[in-house]
Amino acid sequence: MPSTESRTAINFALSEEQRAVRDAAREFALKEIDPIVDEIDEEQRFPTEVFRQAGELGFLGILVPEEYGGAGMGYVEYVLVISELSQVDPSIGLSVAAHNSLCTNHILKFGSEEQRRRWVVPLARGEKIGAWSLTEPGAGSDAAGTTSRAEKVDGGWVLNGAKTFTTHGSVGDYCVVFAVTDPDGPRHHNMSAFVLEKGTEGFRPGKKENKLGTRASDTAEVIMENCLVPDDHLLGERGEGFIQALKILDGGRISIAALGLGIAEGAYRTALAYAQEREQFGRPIAQFQAIQFHLAEMATRVVAAEALVMAAALEMDRSGKVTRLAAEAKLFAGEAAVFCSERGVQIHGGYGLIKDYRAEKFYRDCKICTIGEGTSEIQRLVIARQLLKGM
Ligand SMILES: Cc1cc2nc3c(=O)[nH]c(=O)nc-3n(C[C@H](O)[C@H](O)[C@H](O)COP(=O)(O)OP(=O)(O)OC[C@H]3O[C@@H](n4cnc5c(N)ncnc54)[C@H](O)[C@@H]3O)c2cc1C
Repeated sequence: MPSTESRTAINFALSEEQRAVRDAAREFALKEIDPIVDEIDEEQRFPTEVFRQAGELGFLGILVPEEYGGAGMGYVEYVLVISELSQVDPSIGLSVAAHNSLCTNHILKFGSEEQRRRWVVPLARGEKIGAWSLTEPGAGSDAAGTTSRAEKVDGGWVLNGAKTFTTHGSVGDYCVVFAVTDPDGPRHHNMSAFVLEKGTEGFRPGKKENKLGTRASDTAEVIMENCLVPDDHLLGERGEGFIQALKILDGGRISIAALGLGIAEGAYRTALAYAQEREQFGRPIAQFQAIQFHLAEMATRVVAAEALVMAAALEMDRSGKVTRLAAEAKLFAGEAAVFCSERGVQIHGGYGLIKDYRAEKFYRDCKICTIGEGTSEIQRLVIARQLLKGM
């Protein structure tokens, strides 16, 4: 059950409007998502109906200005929404995050006025679902190793290649894809970003992945076979796709940090409630110091993760310069999610392995936080590079 009990200071710092946004996200998650969480996880079904409702509440265009159909809010509101949704279902948290901060934000940031009107408006209203395809089978952490190609032809580009692990790869309507446009160009200035629309000839989803966790969030391959797109599908400057991706990932990492925070808090609260109900040796297990220490460590990580996530969100709203802070927030909150989920299962004992209890699901869902949008190892590299800049 989501609660703000552990969030005292930040609660006070929030404006009335921000608290209203958080409460709306919480109410939506409890009313519309909670009843179907187990079913959509088991069936690995992306709940289109929930996504449409999220769109009506403005949760699919949180960062988009009102003139482009969005809610016109900032990163503080954004992380409140993602963490509230993720406490109830990390699959929905992940999907809403990918839609907002990857696809929609990329077109908003680097698209022309005409491209924003054409693609951002329906995405922000939740009429269309967004995807963002960078990762390839041979280019994960090393995204600059992209091999998908876009060749210039009269009036457009012909794309060929295969992407992997794309969130909304099979359900997405618009997909921002990266392909090499200048094979002989410098390593970080040789690829470009394009918008592909569902139904375009030569563009199709490949295999839908059968995953350990976040199973209701659609993850699939994306295939491009002689896919012809007009010139006006290129986003920003030719050759600047990789640099654009890095900028988008700064915000994306705050999203995954918020997802981690939600999972950490959800796992902690579930365990706290269970520890007070479950009796062994004639007393609630919460009376054993061993269990109390688990809970104390979980609670501390939750509140520390929240402070870092909020610091990153505030800095993003203030200066937009968050490469180090976003990586720190993602690293810490992602690891906190894994820690709290593991301890949550431990506190549940054997019941922690049983699907009737949410502890089991948090334990499966949490791993995306230390892998997606840059693994924990890559976050450490990003942070260290920032620390040693100029050396
Ligand atoms: C559910 C899910 C959703 C995703 N959604 C998207 C999406 O929407 N769009 C998208 O483009 N991608 C998406 N991804 C891909 C994700 O971003 C990548 O999986 C991630 O970046 C890691 O790449 P990889 O899986 O190829 O691992 P690899 O890069 O092969 O890494 C394997 C291991 O080696 C380590 N490693 C690699 N390089 C180094 C190094 N230099 N130093 C130290 N250690 C290193 C890694 O940390 C890791 O532990 C998604 C992935 C998942 C699982």
